[in-house]
Amino acid sequence: MADVLGLFTDILGDEGVVAGEQISEDYEHDEALSSHPVRPEAVLLPRTTEDVSAILRTANEHGIPVTARGAGSGISGAAIPVEGGVIVSFERMNAIIEIDVDNHVAVVEPGVRLAQLDEALAPHGFVYPVRPGESSASIGGTVNTNAAGMRAVKYGVTRHHVIGLEVVLPSGEVIHTGGKIVKVSSGYDLTQLIIGSEGTLGLVTKVWIKLSPRLPKGATVLAPFATLDEVTSAIPKILASGLQPLILEYIDLLTMMVIVMDSGIELGISDEIRQTALAYLVVSLEDNHEDRLEQDTVALGELLAGELGALDVFVLPQGAASDLIQAREHAFYAAKTRGFHDVIDVVVPRAKLPDFVRAVGEISQEFSSGIVGCGHAGDGNVHMAVLQEDPEIRNKIMHRLLSSGLELGGAISGEHGIGRMKKPYFLAYEDPTKVDLMRGIKRVFDPNGILNPGVIFD
Ligand SMILES: Cc1cc2nc3c(=O)[nH]c(=O)nc-3n(C[C@H](O)[C@H](O)[C@H](O)COP(=O)(O)OP(=O)(O)OC[C@H]3O[C@@H](n4cnc5c(N)ncnc54)[C@H](O)[C@@H]3O)c2cc1C
Repeated sequence: MADVLGLFTDILGDEGVVAGEQISEDYEHDEALSSHPVRPEAVLLPRTTEDVSAILRTANEHGIPVTARGAGSGISGAAIPVEGGVIVSFERMNAIIEIDVDNHVAVVEPGVRLAQLDEALAPHGFVYPVRPGESSASIGGTVNTNAAGMRAVKYGVTRHHVIGLEVVLPSGEVIHTGGKIVKVSSGYDLTQLIIGSEGTLGLVTKVWIKLSPRLPKGATVLAPFATLDEVTSAIPKILASGLQPLILEYIDLLTMMVIVMDSGIELGISDEIRQTALAYLVVSLEDNHEDRLEQDTVALGELLAGELGALDVFVLPQGAASDLIQAREHAFYAAKTRGFHDVIDVVVPRAKLPDFVRAVGEISQEFSSGIVGCGHAGDGNVHMAVLQEDPEIRNKIMHRLLSSGLELGGAISGEHGIGRMKKPYFLAYEDPTKVDLMRGIKRVFDPNGILNPGVIFD
């Protein structure tokens, strides 16, 4: 390995290769709970596509495992390196190459952070609406996990916005898929194949992103409900109303208590309501026009308090609204600091959300374990944190939770990916014929298996 490190230094110079004691502990893990940190042999910091190409050619020749890393905010262990492997971190490839205002396209390097892109797009009146809860996440990471977040209920997920990629294959060859064109029907869609592939097929070095108009007016409504069942049952009706929410999230009682306590937000909810409410719905609307927004907000309030049976409806002041949304985005950290051991990211058909949440309640009781959370209710995507120290019992709980979601027509992960943490469940439940096809695709892209080995499957 020492000799190979020398080869990497020849490619990147001394400042592009971090090894030994110099490697920060951060590179040993991502944000996955209960994962085992692994120290990489080296952290490689390319500046250009040519650097990445030379790194992969060398790694492929010497059989060195390569794990790509964006911001390391993933929750599935997909950015944890393997023993004897290197990390390719894209932190120095962080340029916004172009914002093409006529074609509504941004071209960016993979190390660009979501917050950085948002700041650059705002003056042009555009937005990239993919917004996972951690805005330090990188474009490369979000592409490779097919990240979603709160705004997916209106705008869809990463794969609905990424229209082209530059990808370096393990052989060192560079391919381009798509581009500034908004549609393409020329053979298999390799852009879509790479999106969500968790760094197992190629390394993304450039991304073409479709931009959306930035709507300047927003309103956020908080509705407490007497039961979680009523909250989840309300979702299809809100979506059928034509109000097109930007955000449609549920938060259970315990999670609400904790995030309000941690962030110190004052929501103006009376003690009486607080004592009765068992769950909350957060709905945000956006528009170009203040009067239209106001009309829609009134209509939403009437729907919630009337047919849907909310205990009350609060239109939050701007500051409290953004504080609550940020606190909800960071609910994961609240669970992490309180010692929760795992998170689920199950997605079910929206109308099955009440059945799934009921099943979760039963599983929680059966195993006397805390399972609490919130979720992108508008997408049928539930994030729940599991508190159970005993790994064997926790494994049983996870199997029950995930199989309950699958029985309802759902999937194990809606947006976090499989990584290392969900691999055993993925392999236990996914159709083996499909897994074989995926393995075949992996072999075509990466015959020597150097890219993120052990992620998705072994
Ligand atoms: C508080 C919190 C809230 C979150 N909320 C959400 C949410 O609402 N929705 C959601 O979808 N996710 C959410 N996440 C998860 C996380 O932010 C996303 O998975 C995000 O996409 C990870 O981006 P990253 O840059 O941190 O990627 P990393 O964690 O660094 O990497 C993720 C994967 O991408 C691969 N990768 C990275 N860069 C490249 C590249 N250039 N080429 C090839 N492969 C690459 C890595 O190898 C790994 O497999 C949340 C995380 C936290 C901590």
